[in-house]
Amino acid sequence: MEIIRIPRIMQDTCRRHILKGRSVGFVPTMGALHEGHLSLMKRAQRENDSVVVSIFVNPAQFAPAEDFAAYPRDIDNDLVKLRDLGIDSLFVPDNSLMYPSGFSTSVEVGGLSDRLCGLYRPGHFRGVATVVAKLLNIVGPTRAYFGQKDFQQTVVIRRMVKDLNMDAEIVVCPTKREEDGLAMSSRNRYLNPQERTAAASLYRAMTLVSEDLRSGTKSPAALKEMLHAALAKEPLITGIDYAGIFHPETLDELQETGRLREVLIAVAARLGKTRLIDNIVVNLG
Ligand code: AMP
Repeated sequence: MEIIRIPRIMQDTCRRHILKGRSVGFVPTMGALHEGHLSLMKRAQRENDSVVVSIFVNPAQFAPAEDFAAYPRDIDNDLVKLRDLGIDSLFVPDNSLMYPSGFSTSVEVGGLSDRLCGLYRPGHFRGVATVVAKLLNIVGPTRAYFGQKDFQQTVVIRRMVKDLNMDAEIVVCPTKREEDGLAMSSRNRYLNPQERTAAASLYRAMTLVSEDLRSGTKSPAALKEMLHAALAKEPLITGIDYAGIFHPETLDELQETGRLREVLIAVAARLGKTRLIDNIVVNLG
């Protein structure tokens, strides 16, 4: 596996593949890799001639009071996992090369960035859109792979790619879960054993609601109440930023499911100091 730190060199490497008619799959990450990340990489390997992974903990997507400094970093174990998987190239840029002095451009995806997590993490999606735009320009992949776990991020990125005529195909992959249903996340490392057990209640609550959603007997308002009531049963949940039923494209909170074929159930909750997000997309057939 070649390890590349300089954006210009990464750009040249990928361009050479593309010029030879080889497809490049790209998986951007912030490291502390788990099976969720690896599932994206395996899919990228199946669908492309060459796979590039990036590890970059992007300061621009963390607000000043958030966990940028404490965010898990585990480069030695990450390298082992990437080598075992047979990844072709790893891009690990320094902050000073991604945001050199004088850097002053940002990408703002209006509307979609201001709801759900955007309400609680102001500026987060500006940071995400900006770094993903930079990474797509640096790598220039045929396809880029993202997890459904960060559902709003996928909606924001799809919009950006469309609006800015970027040519990477955006592929969204299913959420990998632990046996008890907890969505894998680098931030799960923050949970103490009691919180870790309690964290599975997010998925349980969403699954419970999804059954009634499918049967079509309850309104989104009633389902939202049900979701909150299920989460309220878990005493270690110290706060709920949002939990509800949303339109999977506009991210608007739904008043009725109408003729929608898919509906998003999404939750952001705090267990102690750890903020967890999760979602499921329910097919209404
Ligand atoms: P992160 O390192 O948290 O920025 O995640 C990098 C990519 O992996 C993003 O596209 C995430 O949505 C995706 N990802 C994170 N957790 C999971 C998971 N449990 N299952 C599938 N994809 C995931």
